[in-house]
Amino acid sequence: MRRTKIVATVGPATSRPESMRALLAAGADVVRLNAAHASADLHVEHAALARKIAAELGRFVGVLVDLPGPKMRTGPVVDDEIQLDAGAELVLASTPVVGDEHRVSTTLPELARWVSPGDEIYLADGAIVLRVCRLDDADVVCEVVRGGVLRSRKGMHVPRAEGHVEPFTATDAAALRMAIAIKADFVGLSFVRRPEDVEDVRARLPKRGSRPMLIAKIETAVALDHLPGIVGAADAVMVARGDLGIQVPARRVPLIQKEVIRFCNMAGKPVITATQMLESMTRSPMPTRAEVNDVANAVLDGTDALMLSEETAIGLYPTDTVRTMSEVAEAAEDWPRVRIAPQGATAAVDDDRVAWAVAHAAVQAAEDLGVAAIVCPTQSGTTARRVAAFRPAVPIAGISEQPEILGRLTLVWGVRPLAATTAAGPDDQTRHAAKAARECGLAHKGDLIAIVSASTGKRAGATDTVRIVRA
Ligand code: PGA
Ligand code: MN
Repeated sequence: MRRTKIVATVGPATSRPESMRALLAAGADVVRLNAAHASADLHVEHAALARKIAAELGRFVGVLVDLPGPKMRTGPVVDDEIQLDAGAELVLASTPVVGDEHRVSTTLPELARWVSPGDEIYLADGAIVLRVCRLDDADVVCEVVRGGVLRSRKGMHVPRAEGHVEPFTATDAAALRMAIAIKADFVGLSFVRRPEDVEDVRARLPKRGSRPMLIAKIETAVALDHLPGIVGAADAVMVARGDLGIQVPARRVPLIQKEVIRFCNMAGKPVITATQMLESMTRSPMPTRAEVNDVANAVLDGTDALMLSEETAIGLYPTDTVRTMSEVAEAAEDWPRVRIAPQGATAAVDDDRVAWAVAHAAVQAAEDLGVAAIVCPTQSGTTARRVAAFRPAVPIAGISEQPEILGRLTLVWGVRPLAATTAAGPDDQTRHAAKAARECGLAHKGDLIAIVSASTGKRAGATDTVRIVRA
């Protein structure tokens, strides 16, 4: 049984019922709806379809709505496509123009305030490189260092200037409303720079009812200076290697990946590794050796989840890609690695220290006894997440009556979401937990299981009990 979770981006290649079914059957745990593409109506439809098919398959699927965030872009260009040649001069204009080989506008009229001569600016998502020569009032005069084709409205990167862009746009607000309306389990926040960027979005969530978990995408250079705060403010984190590899030299990305994953493991926060993991499978039924190594290494780094983007959104082999990822991850999980235990117990408030210590003790006991499963009746998902953070070798089940809680557990390493009664008193709870473990095949009658929970009446997440019982 694979423990690493798989996030698959939905697009034209996977949005029809039969292709969505194949995607989920192949092992996708979470579907990602990218609000930077397609209409809100289409995303609403895809979320409903994924959940309907998951229910037919007798399981849960998580829904992640990814907000585009403050992505800087160049403006429109004549005939939608211009050629920029190395050595030529190009002016980034502060006023709107239809761009040509000499002059292109950007979504950042005040760009000249944030750059100096010698700075590099990246166009077309990093394909084209400019160097700033001089400032001409509000215009930025550049030399093309690496040329290429520039199409209308492509992503632009100005490392270290990101801090000055409005972090939450009108497009983000609309996408967030859609995510709340469809009860998305997760919302991805692009280009997060500081903890406040996460807190500001959290303040926009409904005060009651189901609230999505917020995933901070680590993809700006600035965010790397605020990692502890961002990880603390977010519910989960994504190593968004695509944009990150433009904002910092690509050679640093593998090292940052290790650092971010390690940090999240220590903080007990789920972390996703994303972008180009099996890129060549967008067009080929077979991955490269390097890609197989990359997927396996992310697992060995300690990632909770792996993500597919174009591979499943527009690729020719979406199901094969998920299957490949699943097999590679499962093989890597068998390899003995040093587990990074959460250090949350030392930093957190008193109640949380107890909860972390109980989760730790439960995992220790479960492994000493070789129990069939650790079963976590959970009101918020927190108990199951804490247990998973210690990466036990035995299976973990998170049980709840609420589909929203089960949806959120789809991303968490090693946790199988199970719909079952969590019941009131401890005796009932034990009975229900044992029954749920037997019914899903995790335990047979007479097997030892560990039940970890918050005693009744406590606030959600106040894990304080472990019971070892026979199923
Ligand atoms: P994106 O984020 O696919 O939304 O750009 C992931 C990344 O940049 O790696
Ligand atoms: Mn990105």
